[in-house]
Amino acid sequence: MAPFDLSINALANRNVVAMDGYTPGEQPEGSGWVKLNTNENPYPPSPRVIEAIMHETGENGSCLRLYPNPSSRLLRQALAKMHDVPVEWVIAGNGSDDILNLLTRVFCGPQRPAGMTTPSYSLYPVLVALQGGKLIEVPFEKNFALDIERIARSGANIFFLTSPNAPSGVGFSTAQIAELARRFPGILVVDEAYAPFAAENAAKLVAEFPRLVVTRTFSKAFSLAGLRVGYALAQPEIITLLDRARDSYNLDRLAQAAALAAIKDLRYYRGTITRVIRTREKFLAKIRTLGWFAHPSQANFMLIEPVNSHGEKGPAVAEDLFHFLKKRKILVRYFGKHPLTRAALRVSIGTDENMAVLAAALDLWLNPAKPP
Ligand code: PMP
Repeated sequence: MAPFDLSINALANRNVVAMDGYTPGEQPEGSGWVKLNTNENPYPPSPRVIEAIMHETGENGSCLRLYPNPSSRLLRQALAKMHDVPVEWVIAGNGSDDILNLLTRVFCGPQRPAGMTTPSYSLYPVLVALQGGKLIEVPFEKNFALDIERIARSGANIFFLTSPNAPSGVGFSTAQIAELARRFPGILVVDEAYAPFAAENAAKLVAEFPRLVVTRTFSKAFSLAGLRVGYALAQPEIITLLDRARDSYNLDRLAQAAALAAIKDLRYYRGTITRVIRTREKFLAKIRTLGWFAHPSQANFMLIEPVNSHGEKGPAVAEDLFHFLKKRKILVRYFGKHPLTRAALRVSIGTDENMAVLAAALDLWLNPAKPP
């Protein structure tokens, strides 16, 4: 009998053995960090969310014995009402990452390539590699403008467009997205994780374009990154297929209750979103005072290009500032691999106090205090 290879890798799917997994942003342990690296909301969720979680837990946690509603029905109904679409147009997920995963499982495979603009959210290539799909990259120019023509002709079966874009923060207009949806012949996914901080979004376009999917998250604007809730809007033909690929209980009880309570308190969130936007514009003014370049952001983060006290910029300068800040327990994000980001740092927008601490550290980096 021929000897057979019993190594684990030989038994695994080749595409999984060959690929790299996703690297999430650092989640530091311990306290005292000014955490501006993973675009979380600096403000807590609505007080109604905490009440809903307590209520959903039941006395002595007794409700936790029971499985949650398998289709997140009440939450989906509320989301449908919020977006003025039928409930069959909404699917909920364990974070929008879950939704992106479902979309890739359904619409990407060895014969069905997926596309993305680069640089953008680094989870997409991981999901595509898991499917054994080919990835088609449409590179951004330095100004991060949307190249509708190149995406339309990319040959992708499904295309992921992050709008506002991450990590640049640059937003695309509804008219541009509509034009792209008209011209791109595959499934167009507009990942609107950051759209609540933007002037425009594409949610309304799903009624017009049967191949358009808009994904949203509760992690950013709704301050619920720790609970993992996301959703997608699309016409029922797409939602039905995604629903087939979904885990039967993909959202736990507490997550469903919390997200439902959150959208019942939109007034509260309008307040926190406005505060984040105000702080973002103040921070942009600070960056401009320093004479540094920053892309005008429509999101809750900003991509800034530091210039040191010798007037130098570039990857070494950006990395130097990253480490300088980290030593002072201020965490931002450095994407050193891509030419359009390696001279820059991505800074999440925190509270005014957070940004004042950061601004003071930037001043110190530029003008190291002379010893007394
Ligand atoms: N899309 C983009 C562009 C993101 O930056 C993120 C979060 N890092 C997500 C989706 C995923 O968000 P979540 O799974 O927390 O909903």
